[in-house]
Amino acid sequence: MSLNVIMLGPPASGKGTQAIRLAQARGIPKISTGDILREAGKAGTALGLKAKALMDRGELVSDEDMVNIVRERLTQADAKNGFILDGFPRTVGQAETLDRMLAGQPLAIIDLAVPDSELIHRMEDRRVCSKCGGNAEPGSAPTETCARCGGKMIMRADDGDQAVRQHRLEVYARESWPLLDYYRSRPTFRSINGAQAPEKVAAELSKAIDQMIPAAVRAGARDAR
Ligand SMILES: [Zn+2]
Repeated sequence: MSLNVIMLGPPASGKGTQAIRLAQARGIPKISTGDILREAGKAGTALGLKAKALMDRGELVSDEDMVNIVRERLTQADAKNGFILDGFPRTVGQAETLDRMLAGQPLAIIDLAVPDSELIHRMEDRRVCSKCGGNAEPGSAPTETCARCGGKMIMRADDGDQAVRQHRLEVYARESWPLLDYYRSRPTFRSINGAQAPEKVAAELSKAIDQMIPAAVRAGARDAR
């Protein structure tokens, strides 16, 4: 038995940061599709190379290939006690396949909910280092220079202008509703208020998982570290 978690949430919801925190706290890997695609490309597997070629041309990896790449990643040793998925599943088809892969093992689905106005505000404020690519610590005071390397902090290209930010949220809302619909009625689905301070979100998230997932599974994930 293992502790399996899916993290859902709009851009700038803090999903990636919370996924990393939870992964570290529970001793299981955080698996983001962006990371796996990069790893698979580097590892030089047939699927990885195919995915890399598509991405280099700016095209999307098909549902089927994405599922196979995730399947390959989930069979690696570090994921045997569980995983936290960030960015997958993205479609109902992928979610159905994941259910089949898990064959009845418990799956916690976390949706980080943040109002659009707050997300827009966060994207406006979000800065990334132009030199090392590091993000500013969430919640830290805005600075002109990177705390790590002294590089100039700039707005992320994909956070763009007001119209771009609004469009990203609309795309997310449109693409995520069928998936939320697929998961929402499950006893292991929780919507967490992501507009709170990161520490509060992490605490609520941890508590929700402890309530949803049987203690035996959680103990297993810890002991086997
Ligand atoms: Zn830097």
